[in-house]
Amino acid sequence: MPRAPRLPALPALPALPARPRTSSFATSTFQLERVTLRANSAEIRRYADRCAKQDLLLSFDPVHEDEKESNPMSDTVKFVLDEERMPKAWYNIAADLPQPTPPPLHPGTHQPLGPADLEPLFPMALIEQEVSTERWIEIPRPVRDIYRQWRPSPLFRARRLEQALGTPARIYYKYEGVSPAGSHKPNTAVPQAFYNKEAGIKRLATETGAGQWGSSLAFAGALFGIQVTVFQVRVSYDQKPYRRALMEAYGAKCIASPSTTTESGRAILEQNPNHTGSLGIAISEAVEVAAKDPATKYALGSVLNHVLLHQTIVGQEAMLQLEQAGDYPDVIVGCTGGGSNFGGIAFPFIGEQLRGKKKVRVVAVEPAACPSLTRGKYAYDFGDTAHLSPLVKMHTLGSTFTPPGFHAGGLRYHGMAPLVSHLKELGLIEAVAYPQTTVFEAGLTFARAEGILPAPEANHAVKGAIDEALRCKEEGTSKVILFNLCGHGHFDMAAYSEFAAGRLNDASYAEGELAMALAGLPSMA
Ligand SMILES: *Cc1c(COP(=O)(O)O)cnc(C)c1O
Repeated sequence: MPRAPRLPALPALPALPARPRTSSFATSTFQLERVTLRANSAEIRRYADRCAKQDLLLSFDPVHEDEKESNPMSDTVKFVLDEERMPKAWYNIAADLPQPTPPPLHPGTHQPLGPADLEPLFPMALIEQEVSTERWIEIPRPVRDIYRQWRPSPLFRARRLEQALGTPARIYYKYEGVSPAGSHKPNTAVPQAFYNKEAGIKRLATETGAGQWGSSLAFAGALFGIQVTVFQVRVSYDQKPYRRALMEAYGAKCIASPSTTTESGRAILEQNPNHTGSLGIAISEAVEVAAKDPATKYALGSVLNHVLLHQTIVGQEAMLQLEQAGDYPDVIVGCTGGGSNFGGIAFPFIGEQLRGKKKVRVVAVEPAACPSLTRGKYAYDFGDTAHLSPLVKMHTLGSTFTPPGFHAGGLRYHGMAPLVSHLKELGLIEAVAYPQTTVFEAGLTFARAEGILPAPEANHAVKGAIDEALRCKEEGTSKVILFNLCGHGHFDMAAYSEFAAGRLNDASYAEGELAMALAGLPSMA
């Protein structure tokens, strides 16, 4: 083995702050080839300069408070992790919950589901993850190898947004738009395709709203040689031809839903041939296709425990990156459709809190036009419209609820992940709802300061974070805000054009329709 180069001898240094994973030096002779320094004294800065001259410095992160105030733009903007530091296990919050989530029930018998009930839909490895209470679940090597195409994703300090808002808050965002599909969804599409491939499955059927999940699964299917059939909600299929083109580019087959290829689709079309579709209907179609063909399984892009599990890599990376920054969040914000990007960023921090570490405020942001957490009922309900799926206890607007057509297709789902719903009931998270014009305004404020144009779904998180930062300004407090920028908006330019032309309105549902959908919840005698 070649000898590690000798680092320059240390000057007499003051004691370093204890930051175990980033302050990696102890003696004057190093076995490490490269070091990461994080400190705030002039001596260490000079030492870092000498390391840098010998190409021994991995990163140096000065944190001098005075300097920060006098020259706010001179500090680090992007916190990047080396590929070797990418987490090797997902975090399972079920291990740390004070009470377990209520069990999913069989749609016919209303008895708790057994693994065999889910076998027609999912491979056993995913069913095991669905019910596991192990705290850490290893990420298989082939999955990590694919993750490395874009992970670890960067954590940004939103310095320009902070300046634009004039807030004393420190705002950080984890940017998941760097994935091939442009959102967080490949984090679960890749392991789902992997476990299905291992189980000998030839085809995956799924639904997609905005097209984010469909294109993510299409990408993962291409890598593992699995055919992918996507039922895309009719309104998005018509409005978003480029998402469909992307799915087809990856080799997937895309069908507008409701379709004539399934019984559930035909039943809906008989009642209304011009039905614009919903995620609940598209799920029914995909589940039906999987249930009827032993070589086909179903894949869901959100809501389920194993999906939220796969997304926890986001929060775990963010924790390591914030450690580099010398910060820890006071507030975490995420947008919620089915709850997966929110769970992904928040659960690792909530887990720390449940194990006795620092308390964090966690805020879920949802659209006012589809407000399951703020206006829904916490009850057992079906995940789909045709009632083929298990009954799960969640915040729901009723499985027959069809949200009005607004421009964050990924958030148009009647229910919420059982894990997220449970945390809300336990008082561990809060929820707010915003109308779409206010979230688009927030998205443009963000884009004009930071440069990245967020997905309309992500604009909800941006709006939530901006409101928290403005509250800090009013109160004169310097809180640390972390939010998940879960995707870019490059496929959503039609929505931005409509907003610019003043044609976006705050679509709302009829109260009567919500009441009717809620009255139709299954009775759990
Ligand atoms: C799918 C999607 C969502 C909503 O799903 P969650 O499971 O709640 O994360 C939000 N943002 C983007 C960019 C999406 O693609």
